[in-house]
Amino acid sequence: TRHVYRFGEGVSDGGKGDKEILGGKGANLAEMAAIGLPVPPGFTIGTPMCLLYYEEGEHFPDTLRAEVAQGIAHIELKTGKKFGDVADPLLVSVRSGARASMPGMMDTVLNLGLNDETVRGLAEASGDPRFAWDSYRRFIQMYSDVVLGLDHGAFEEALEIAKENKGVHLDTDLAAEDWQALTARYMELVEELWEKPFPQDVHEQLWGAIGAVFGSWQSERAKIYRRLNGIPHDWGTAVNVQAMVFGNMGETSATGVAFTRDPSTGERAYYGEYLINAQGEDVVAGIRTPQYLTKSAREVAGAKAVSMEESMPEVFAELSRVFDLLERHYRDMQDIEFTVERGKLWMLQTRSGKRTAKAALRIAIDMAGEGLISEQEAVLRVDPAALDQLLHPTLDPAAERQVIARGLPASPGAASGRVVFDADTAEKRSGLGEKVILVRIETSPEDIHGMHAAQGILTARGGMTSHAAVVARGMGRPCVSGAGSVSIDYKAKQMRVGGCEIGEGDMITIDGSTGEVMLGEVPTVQPELVGDFGTLMSWADRSRRLRVRTNAETPNDCRTAREFGAEGIGLCRTEHMFFDAERITSVRQMILAENEAGRRAALAKLLPEQRDDFEQIFAIMAGLPVTIRLLDPPLHEFLPHSEEEFADVASAAGTTVDLLKRRVAELHEFNPMLGHRGCRLGITYPEIYEMQARAIFEAAVKVAKSGGETPIPEVMVPLVATKAELQIIRALIDRTARSVFEEQELSVDYLVGTMIELPRAALMAGGIAEEAAFFSFGTNDLTQTTLGVSRDDASRFLTVYVEKGIYARDPFVSIDEEGVGELISIATERGRAVKPDLKLGICGEHGGDPVSVAFCERIGLDYVSASPYRVPIARLAAAQAAL
Ligand code: ADP
Ligand code: MG
Ligand code: MG
Repeated sequence: TRHVYRFGEGVSDGGKGDKEILGGKGANLAEMAAIGLPVPPGFTIGTPMCLLYYEEGEHFPDTLRAEVAQGIAHIELKTGKKFGDVADPLLVSVRSGARASMPGMMDTVLNLGLNDETVRGLAEASGDPRFAWDSYRRFIQMYSDVVLGLDHGAFEEALEIAKENKGVHLDTDLAAEDWQALTARYMELVEELWEKPFPQDVHEQLWGAIGAVFGSWQSERAKIYRRLNGIPHDWGTAVNVQAMVFGNMGETSATGVAFTRDPSTGERAYYGEYLINAQGEDVVAGIRTPQYLTKSAREVAGAKAVSMEESMPEVFAELSRVFDLLERHYRDMQDIEFTVERGKLWMLQTRSGKRTAKAALRIAIDMAGEGLISEQEAVLRVDPAALDQLLHPTLDPAAERQVIARGLPASPGAASGRVVFDADTAEKRSGLGEKVILVRIETSPEDIHGMHAAQGILTARGGMTSHAAVVARGMGRPCVSGAGSVSIDYKAKQMRVGGCEIGEGDMITIDGSTGEVMLGEVPTVQPELVGDFGTLMSWADRSRRLRVRTNAETPNDCRTAREFGAEGIGLCRTEHMFFDAERITSVRQMILAENEAGRRAALAKLLPEQRDDFEQIFAIMAGLPVTIRLLDPPLHEFLPHSEEEFADVASAAGTTVDLLKRRVAELHEFNPMLGHRGCRLGITYPEIYEMQARAIFEAAVKVAKSGGETPIPEVMVPLVATKAELQIIRALIDRTARSVFEEQELSVDYLVGTMIELPRAALMAGGIAEEAAFFSFGTNDLTQTTLGVSRDDASRFLTVYVEKGIYARDPFVSIDEEGVGELISIATERGRAVKPDLKLGICGEHGGDPVSVAFCERIGLDYVSASPYRVPIARLAAAQAAL
């Protein structure tokens, strides 16, 4: 089979549909070449070779040599230069490129093909010795780092010393002789550190670099990135070998990165940065502060350095044409790398740009407006999980703030946390439940785990396209980058800004939407759910079939959920209402009572309180369905612990502390989650459920009488395993309803149903459906009882299980479709066979997980129920699942 695919100057052996084999970078280089854009010629070695390479113990099959030779011949033909030619050498870059973009995670080598002889040829042919020696020292430095694995610190130090000796600060201030001298020093360093001379054979260089790129697929940082982003380890990377073009050939040359729209806000304006007389990595690595692409961006920022639009108007105009062409071609916002060599524009990369949730929304809606995509495509373009970013609080504009520094608004959102200066500490402290802000001079791929663990990121250096900014946006972490006035001392674990000294553990707040850095914790406010957000949600609502309800029990949560578009309550947990300081004494008295009379006395005190709870909820939900679950947890969760609490309860119940303690000991259970809980309480102490049912119906009647919209209570019985359980409890509920309606001389509609959270109930769903008007799958408990895994203890082994592929995903995050999903399907079928209009929904955490929502759509449930903040996520996920 074939492994090498060519591109450039009229040749394209692949295109954008071939990412699986060519990787994202290779596929898009071929595509750009095919649509006639200026792409330096090259070839791609496909991803299957990466896997072969590892299978063969990090060796290449012999057949690859001939294919690569043909690839090189293609580049030589198109450029008219020869690889290794001493007169006018062809130089190439060797670039990684996986199916999914993994920015900065893998290696690239530039300027390959230079040695002690060809560098002279390059100087001669270009007429620019400074450029030639600059390229050579860059190559030695990169190759030594990436391929030979030598410590790059030593090379950076040598460069610093060279600048100091000459008394200059900038790389651009060094002349040809300086670079040549530095090259000699680099050669010594290689001999010292590697104990061999730097490879002079250009073919040896090439194969070394290809091996290193394949090797970088298995680097620690690449593995971590894949784990965090759910990228399979067996995809492998492709290798792209491409003719070099040079941005470091003087003042008419440049290199840059750009987005076709603003990746932070989504605004329809070119956004990018460039550097004159520089090579690719200089922009991203923060070596020099890059300049703005457009005049308007420069003016908004108040920057002096001239923009590309002003310094190279013709090339800029051509670049703008390319931007528009690429957007129309890909029908999405693009992230682009380009280089200008002596006034000629070359395209080096394009891909769908990473963007914040806010930008994703705006771009989707704008593009639908521009007719580039349809309304439905716009709905499909926004990642539901990313909406989370928009639903969270922003800084209260009225709050006082002490701004100590300003940087670039690199990734929006506000975050407060304790300052830490390294990724490991960030991970450690956040693991202990602390909120931290990672503060770095600049970030590198090694910091990725710390960035993930932190609430937000602050860097002293780097632009809007720096590593920190790109990664933070992808992760949805607020980020302020390039806060130049902050000076950071890693050793002392201290940052200094203005007159302020801030140490590890001090609290700061950053606002990634404005670039402000503030001392202390600044209060926040709820976000506005109008504008683009509202538009997209209304489009989503038009496309979805599943209804979306919420899990809520406080009036506050109910209101929030309604604002987020909840169409009812799918789970109202009544026990949460019992923990209130004043009520808990009555609850405890009820539990500890020795007999029914004692229990009834305590329940009588709780009745009016519960009725109030329900009345408020019914009023807020205004006629929407409200599913109320009767008491579920094991009773001893409510029991007193301290002597003081015992004394309180004893006096309220008119008994002694000793007697109480004996009763508590009697209530002890070995395995409470499988113990005396759920409907088992209702069977043994019917008066508890009777009180709750009475509170529900009295509240419903009261709201109906007071002229509010008549509520639709759905009374839900937890932890049912058998039809008989439900039969007994349903009779109790119906009896209670009848007597309330007689007393009040008004009746309301209501339903009685059950949770399906035990495997037995799922299997017996046919019989149970005869007694139930609805099923609600309690997928948290159903997962625990089906897998035999306790959610509270699972963290110790579940990550290993997921890593080893035993479960594809954490079954408490996304429904285990194979096992738990099978039980849900069985219950759905058997239940509907008996009762075709049986209402079906889920109410576990899974209701807010997009993958699980898609499953619910597939098996035809009626609704999902999610926590209030996840309601919009579920609405969008439901629409995407239906499209
Ligand atoms: P990454 O995936 O980390 O972005 P790339 O392979 O895209 O790595 O390359 C790193 C930098 O080198 C980019 O800025 C790119 O534009 C530049 N570069 C890569 N190949 C060439 C080339 N043939 N000529 C000039 N610059 C190049
Ligand atoms: Mg790149
Ligand atoms: Mg449960």
